[in-house]
Amino acid sequence: MRIQFLPSTIDSDGKASDRQHLMTVVVDDCIAVDAGCLAMSCSDQQRESIRDVILTHPHLDHIAGLPIFIDDLFAQLKEPIRIHATREMIEILERDIFNWAIYPRFSELSNEYGPVVEYIEFDRGSSFEVKHLRIQSVAVNHKISANGFVLSDEGSSIAITGDTAETDEFWRICNSTSDLAAIFVECAFPNEMSDLSIKSQHLSPDRLRSELQKVKNKELPIYIINLKPMYRDSVIEQLIAAEIPNLNIMKVGNVYTF
Ligand SMILES: [Zn+2]
Repeated sequence: MRIQFLPSTIDSDGKASDRQHLMTVVVDDCIAVDAGCLAMSCSDQQRESIRDVILTHPHLDHIAGLPIFIDDLFAQLKEPIRIHATREMIEILERDIFNWAIYPRFSELSNEYGPVVEYIEFDRGSSFEVKHLRIQSVAVNHKISANGFVLSDEGSSIAITGDTAETDEFWRICNSTSDLAAIFVECAFPNEMSDLSIKSQHLSPDRLRSELQKVKNKELPIYIINLKPMYRDSVIEQLIAAEIPNLNIMKVGNVYTF
């Protein structure tokens, strides 16, 4: 399985920045988990092949690139963009984003080949298939009903928290996934911002360290994602100081193969 977190901004030299303002994970170049920067950062080949977008939750940094992605492809789509989301997320998208005021209600529109958007509903905690992947959704602990996912192909599985604070079910599923090859876990804020991280239901290095005690396999690679870009350096310093085993800071744009 190939996993790539797309870049969302550029540095002053014009190259992709390590700072992750928006979350989009492209799996095997053909499935997107979240769409924060999907339209802005995917390759031409990915734009041709991605027709399935699976959403963790509808916060803007996870969906901002979705309306533009559909818009860009509108005339040429020979099959709809399939948005995999819970009923609650679909209602939020239709009410707050695709409402003709913020952006067109694509679910009411067709091109010459047919509808351009199809919603495919999943229940939190359910498992479903998207192309060659089996997806286990897991309820996590965030300001709005949100999902982590365990993605499996025939060779291996990887787990992604999306946005979350302290949680149990996600770690329980990780522990019961025998072919789990890596965990991608959020750590948004530095320790000194604990008020905000607790209120907004994100993790900080010390609290993440406690959370990772729940992982039984201490050999599993842990990739840190969704660091708030303005605090990235201090979060990384604190994560290193916390001596978390098998710690990796996910490198935006890099393709990880499992
Ligand atoms: Zn969020």
